[in-house]
Amino acid sequence: MNLHVLPAGPIQTNAYLLTAPERGEAVLIDAPGDVWADVEPILKKEQCRLTELWLTHGHWDHTQGGAEVVRATGAKVLAHAEDRVLIETPEIMERFMGEKMDLEAVHVDRWVGQGEKFSALGLDVEVRHVPGHCPGNVLFYFAAAGAAFVGDALFKGSVGRADLPGGDFAQLETSIRGQIYTLPEKTVVFPGHGPKTTVAHERATNPYVSG
Ligand SMILES: [Zn+2]
Repeated sequence: MNLHVLPAGPIQTNAYLLTAPERGEAVLIDAPGDVWADVEPILKKEQCRLTELWLTHGHWDHTQGGAEVVRATGAKVLAHAEDRVLIETPEIMERFMGEKMDLEAVHVDRWVGQGEKFSALGLDVEVRHVPGHCPGNVLFYFAAAGAAFVGDALFKGSVGRADLPGGDFAQLETSIRGQIYTLPEKTVVFPGHGPKTTVAHERATNPYVSG
């Protein structure tokens, strides 16, 4: 599996494109605005078809490019039902955006939940529900690759803000301790913004939620 880190959109939200050229398939995790322009040439070069788009959560900066990606590829969209309102009516977050933007709803094909396991790109994936930044934040964990894509629950040296609608810091702390810090220590954590980190590093040094 190849991993392409594609920061995009007005606040440099990380999209992660996972490709498996030997299978001719790819999965995109999160869709910031204009991400398709970065995704398309990689799919062409690696001769992969985008089969799925996984949304870690429903905030506009992670979903803004979703409708365009789906129109171009027919990818099926996965997300957690507790962010359904955010995904289907992204404009409700308008007052938290720096500028006025046209936002498109994304149609979700399959709602996923805590503990769900499925296979993608020939690998096992586990979904963990990590609310607190928003109600429907999930992470996608690839045990074999030692990688977790956590959305805005946890960042390198920081955590997601809990002061937006539906946010709750106590819940975020519980999610991080119960669902992220319990992953194997060497697991690489890929957050929705900024650089990657590891479970061990955050448990030992994160100033907001200690391990
Ligand atoms: Zn967010």
